[in-house]
Amino acid sequence: MDRTLLERYDKRVPRYTSYPTAPHFHPGINAETYTRWLAAVEKDTPLSLYFHVPFCREMCWYCGCHTKVVRRYEPVGEYATTMADEVTLIGGMLEARPPVTHMHWGGGTPTILSADDLEHLMAKIRAGFNVAADAEIAVEMDPRTVTENHVRALARAGVNRASLGVQDFNEQVQKAINRVQPYAMTEQVVEWLRAAGIKAINFDLMYGLPYQTVDDVIRTVDLAAQMRPDRVAVFGYAHVPWMKTHQKMIPDESLPDAWQRFEQAEAAAKRLAERGYRRIGLDHYALETDSMTEVLDKGRLRRNFQGYTTDEARALIGFGASSIGALPQGYVQNAVPLRAWGEAVRNGHPAVDKGIAVNDDDRLRRDIIERLMCDLEVDLSVEAARYGKSANEFSGEIEMLKPMIADGIATIDGDRISITEPGRPLMRAVCALFDTYLDSGVGRHSQAV
Ligand code: SF4
Repeated sequence: MDRTLLERYDKRVPRYTSYPTAPHFHPGINAETYTRWLAAVEKDTPLSLYFHVPFCREMCWYCGCHTKVVRRYEPVGEYATTMADEVTLIGGMLEARPPVTHMHWGGGTPTILSADDLEHLMAKIRAGFNVAADAEIAVEMDPRTVTENHVRALARAGVNRASLGVQDFNEQVQKAINRVQPYAMTEQVVEWLRAAGIKAINFDLMYGLPYQTVDDVIRTVDLAAQMRPDRVAVFGYAHVPWMKTHQKMIPDESLPDAWQRFEQAEAAAKRLAERGYRRIGLDHYALETDSMTEVLDKGRLRRNFQGYTTDEARALIGFGASSIGALPQGYVQNAVPLRAWGEAVRNGHPAVDKGIAVNDDDRLRRDIIERLMCDLEVDLSVEAARYGKSANEFSGEIEMLKPMIADGIATIDGDRISITEPGRPLMRAVCALFDTYLDSGVGRHSQAV
């Protein structure tokens, strides 16, 4: 990779955690549509559940999530009560009781919920849904606020994977992002988790942060690797102050440029490989013993709103304000404002206020993009055949791929497209060739690297 190549392809493109992507959701899909879609879920369709808790104690300036800072517990407690009602409501709308194989708690900060509220909600979920005995139950945690009491309560409730926000260990960087979190604090939470029996641990690291350097990234990887998390995700900071106004607290001039971001991401990848982590897709790394490495080797890695996942469930139900669900018929999103979400649930309706239905062309393009994002290769004829189509449909995309092939980013052999190792950081640009919604000008995305 050289600078010219990076400049040519480092365009603003989606992260492809769904296809079509969220900016294309529209109000034509609503609670009524969702009710019909839910009723059609079959009894042996494995389900995945996502719970969004949109509260934090403090705002991190880099944050791109739907969250709100709260000082008192009252609004959080009320939210937990409404979410318990939503669990009962949606569970009652399913005509079948399919097995729940994955559960993920994200935010915001799920562990802002008291240990009692978390346990109560988990009990409600188990009463309303058929949670499989071996389900993966993952919770995102903020090491700055989680307590030993929380960790024990989560273990009692069956949580078996924890995802810790770490980002960077350099104090100057931490101050600039308003997230001061010393190494000892993270280490303490890891000890509590392992002692409580929550053995699977993920860390989230970041590059492209204010004042961050390649040396900071390497040092952070070294310190993180000492704690031996099973998985590490290394995300690029997406500076979108026009969408997330608190990001204006990060001065533009403190940010690394595109080339420096690229160098940081590659330095993290190299160091993680030296520490025994396998590189997966765009931004994930896992130990050989982790389930993600196993599904990758079987060609069954998936991508959903949490990023890369081992979750193979074809139906995802979201709970909480702003949460997104994915059913075979399409995507839905709950109302983002807390009040609108709460009112809908209290009135006995799903809080969905937008979404998008998918057709076979969308499904085929989604499969192609997913394989490229996960495996770095796709056989167009194999994927097209699943929908009774042929690879000839993509002659236009193959034409557009030619400059990328000439630049060494991708190769083509028959109908099989592969992204090269040097092209890995630009994989989203290859995926974008198959995105028919991209030209509609809806939404502004982050840089490819
Ligand atoms: S803890 Fe997470 S969700 Fe909350 S402000 Fe920080 S980055 Fe955003």
